[in-house]
Amino acid sequence: MDDLKFGRRNKRGDWAPDTPIQVAPLLDRFPPRLLAIVKWLPHYFLPWNVMYLALALAYWAWIIPDTEVMKTLDWHWAGWLFLVNAVAVFLFYGAFELRLYVLRHQKNRFKYNGTFPAEQRSEAFMFKRQDIDCIIRTFASGVTIWTAIEVFMLWAYANGYAPWLGIAEHPWILLIVFLLIPVIHELHFFCIHRLIHTPFLYKWVHSVHHNSVNPSPWSSLAMHPVEHLLYFGTAFYHLILPSCPVLMLYQLHVAGFGAIPGHVGFDKVEIGENHAVDSHSYAHYLHHKYFEVNYGDALLPLDRWFGTWHDGSPEGEARMQARYRKRKEKIAAREARKSAG
Ligand SMILES: [Zn+2]
Ligand SMILES: [Zn+2]
Repeated sequence: MDDLKFGRRNKRGDWAPDTPIQVAPLLDRFPPRLLAIVKWLPHYFLPWNVMYLALALAYWAWIIPDTEVMKTLDWHWAGWLFLVNAVAVFLFYGAFELRLYVLRHQKNRFKYNGTFPAEQRSEAFMFKRQDIDCIIRTFASGVTIWTAIEVFMLWAYANGYAPWLGIAEHPWILLIVFLLIPVIHELHFFCIHRLIHTPFLYKWVHSVHHNSVNPSPWSSLAMHPVEHLLYFGTAFYHLILPSCPVLMLYQLHVAGFGAIPGHVGFDKVEIGENHAVDSHSYAHYLHHKYFEVNYGDALLPLDRWFGTWHDGSPEGEARMQARYRKRKEKIAAREARKSAG
């Protein structure tokens, strides 16, 4: 595909889309535009969320042990779930890495950053390599904490500590919770993300994730264990929500597998000669590039409400620069007052 029909490439080789990033029409204006929402609705599910839901159903059908077994915490079934999660992550993340970054199947077409992380060694990473550092963090603490939360939640369901609704008795409630799951994820992610950008937590926790200035698939779960705990903590809402284990698994998958599209580094993943799937990752790419914009993923207009939205346009850039300038002036004024006093 010709990526220059969709965007432009600068002298450094960085590609950017021509059209500004659109916030999903859910709450972007009042009164809501119903027609726009209906038109957008398929994108809410396809292709990513349907994939995560299918994986949750497959887990429930073939992977998750009997409720009787899960009443007792045990290394056997916990270890089995860890193994399955690790293999699933390896295959899912690895497929993107292999196609786009190892085989470089679409070269740098639609690639935001003109260089590949393998071309830049950095002291910030273990063994100076982004891929190895990120793989270690993904499996050592990412999949471990993900599995630990999953095991805890399943144990809670098995023992009646979390509200478990049957689909036959409560189809409508479960449908509403199902529809809300990506929204819950977005709200939760935005809040914890703002929290870990506070100076102390940024320095000791979130800076690990931001080592990937040029993110690639393995950057998705390259986080400090505290961030993993906060990030996968999104499953804990199901301790109080009228829900069921499949929806809780879907919630975890939206976090665990859903981290991938945001870090794929390409605007479109080509499939065959003339087809491509949108990654919708430009907003999060800009977050990795500029640090203090786009704390959310544009499902809700949270960044616009809080003044941190960057849609990739020159106006978005100007708004960000003005905000940075204002803050600098504030700090300079404070310093001047201090030295005068
Ligand atoms: Zn990220
Ligand atoms: Zn961040």
